[in-house]
Formats: sequence, structure tokens, C-alpha cells
Amino acid sequence: MSPAVQSKLPDVGTTIFTVMSVLATQHKAINLGQGFPDFHMNGELVSLVGKAIKSGMNQYVHMNGLPVLRERISEKVAFLYGTSINPNTDITVTPGGTYAIYTALTAILQPGDEVILFEPAYDSYIPNILVNKGIPVTVPLLFSDYKIDWEAVKARISVKTKAIILNSPHNPTGAVLDVNDIIQLQQIVKNTGIFIISDEVYEHLIFDELKHLSMLLYPDLMERSFVCFSFGKVYHCTGWKLGYCIAPPALMQEFRKVHQFNCFTCNSPMQYALAEFIQQKEHYLTLGLVIQEKRDQFQQGMKATRFSPLQTHGSYFQLYSYAAISDENEYDFATRLTKEYGVATIPVSAFYASPVENKVLRFCFVKKPETLEAAIQKLVKL
Ligand code: PMP
Ligand code: GLN
Repeated sequence: MSPAVQSKLPDVGTTIFTVMSVLATQHKAINLGQGFPDFHMNGELVSLVGKAIKSGMNQYVHMNGLPVLRERISEKVAFLYGTSINPNTDITVTPGGTYAIYTALTAILQPGDEVILFEPAYDSYIPNILVNKGIPVTVPLLFSDYKIDWEAVKARISVKTKAIILNSPHNPTGAVLDVNDIIQLQQIVKNTGIFIISDEVYEHLIFDELKHLSMLLYPDLMERSFVCFSFGKVYHCTGWKLGYCIAPPALMQEFRKVHQFNCFTCNSPMQYALAEFIQQKEHYLTLGLVIQEKRDQFQQGMKATRFSPLQTHGSYFQLYSYAAISDENEYDFATRLTKEYGVATIPVSAFYASPVENKVLRFCFVKKPETLEAAIQKLVKL
């Protein structure tokens, strides 16, 4: 008989993204649930991977990431944010942004430490805290613009607060941090030992001429931050699972202790390819506009339906209220929409530890025009 596992995560089920993607496949629904593009990534970048594999770049690279890639990342950070980052001590290439966030939390958390996070929250944050015996302390974002209530944050800070997790542009709401948010954050963490885990995987996916306010812009925030990025989101290759973390040397040293005995090093051919491709700035500089056009196309088409849009200023996502259509809870409605109308979405209640119901669903609009059009044709029937 197999020994029984005493679960470290007894209340954790299967992630909603997988649940809805499986349901979409079963019912042949158009999948606007899980966040991934359905169009091809850049062919030149694909060729560069092929070139790296064929020319024998198939062995382990340095555990912190291919040196030339780290150099190019530091050049990019200097160009975008005017900040000098040491590629040897401050950057580690990781298998995706999720892993970077998990590794940062694992590096800093002691049992009983509290971590402040904002709900709705990306679904990995709370399990990442719990598996490290930390205590998640949730602060609700204000419905319906999902701004941060900084007075509520202050009220939840305690002597046990070890970290604050931020995510801008925000999944699932598309909210972005503004200058006032940064000022409030600076005041709150000043003279404390609080770390910041900043999930900036949607760094370039920001719309309406807004500027991404990275922690890397502010020395007083950067000195306490693990800033996490994902190549999957920048180059339309979510399945590559490659990203990186930037943190000051003392923080990064601890991050690497965890990293070296977990993943050790990430796949090499893609790092060679990215080291070359990342130099073509226009790809990431135009990304926000390209994706904004998709948002606008989707919003325009959705005007023919009874769904009403909430604001989105970034990310892959747009929330819609279905209050005019149904009284069902979000999970039931999203399930029925998939089964009966052939469009999969994500219920926003899934991003809360204790579900909050606002009759809103998350739609991923980073799709081909014909996919969005086909989905809208189905949604007008409601
Ligand atoms: N953070 C957020 C907010 C995300 O939406 C995602 C995935 N889409 C990630 C982290 C993870 O990125 P990766 O796939 O590189 O692990
Ligand atoms: N980040 C993606 C989303 O929010 C999904 C990633 C995943 O499936 N874990 O849809």
C-alpha cells in the first residue's frame, strides 16, 4: 500500500485555467479563457532557435542564465527604465514568470510570515505562500475600477508583514499602477523590512499611452524588490516557459540558492535565440499598440451583445459584466456559456480565496481577428 501524503495544500484543486481549457476542448468551444495567443509567433525568432539547436547549443548553460542574454536584459532595462542592473549579480533567467515568483517567495518566507496581496489575484500567489508556511493577507481591489485601497493596505500591515505582491498591468482586470500608487507604496515600505514581489509579466502590454511604472524606476523600491518577467508574454510563446527575475545582489543570492537546486538552469537554445532577438527593440516597443488594437476590435464587436465592458488598460484581458443577462454565479454562468454557447471564459470569482461575485467574466482578446469575430457571433445570441 502506498503511504498517504499529508497534503501541504489540502484546499487546492486544479487551476481554473486548466479547468476551463479542458471544458472548452470537450465542448469544442472558442477558448477566450486561458491567456494565450492563437496566432503564430515571430518566424525569425523560431528560426533562431532552430539555428541554435543545429549548431549544437544544446548543453547546460550557466545556472544564472546564458551570460549574453543577461547582458542584453540589462541593456534593455537601462534603455527602458534608465536603471543600471549588473547582469552577473542581479538577473537570473527562470523557467517562466510563475517560477520566478515562487522562487522569490521561497527565498524570503519563514513560517508565519504574512504576505499582502490584492484580490482578484493571479491564482498561483496564495498556494506559493501556503506551501512555504506563510500567511496570505488579502486586500480587495475596489470594484469596478480595481484600484488599490491604500488605507486598507495600511490597516493590514503588521509586524509579521514580510512582503507585498504587486501585479501591474494586472491579471485579470487590466488595471495599472499610477504615480499615486507608487507614492503610497513608497510611504508604506519606507524604513520597514518589507520585500516587494513585483509581477511585471505584462510590462509591454499597456494601452492608452500609459507608461508602465516598473519597480525598476524607483531606487527605494528596487532595493527591496524581486521583479519578475516572462518572455512568453512578450514574444507570443507562452509555451516556452522562459522568463527572468531582477533583484539586488543580496536578495538575488538567496533566490539563486533556491533556484540552483530546483531547476538549476533553463533550456539553452531558446536563450541563445532570445539573446539575439531581444536586440530588435521594435518588437517590444510596438507590442502595446498591436495588442491594444485587438482590445479595441473586441470591444467594438462586443457592442452588439448584452455584455458590458469594464475598463482595461493592459494585459491580455478584458472583463465584461453579464448583469443584464443572468443572475447565475460566475462559475455556473461561465460553464453554461462554454457548454451551451461555445465560448470559454474565466469566472473572476476564481481569483479570490473566498469567491466574490460581481457577475464579471474575464475574456482573453489576444486572438486572431477571425477568432474574436466568431466568438462575438456566438455571444450575440445571449
Ligand atoms: N503572472 C501573471 C499575472 C500571469 O498572468 C502569468 C501567466 N500568464 C504569469 C505570471 C506566468 O507567466 P509564465 O507563463 O512565464 O510562468
Ligand atoms: N497566465 C495565464 C492566464 O491567466 C494562464 C497560465 C496558466 O494556465 N497557469 O490565463
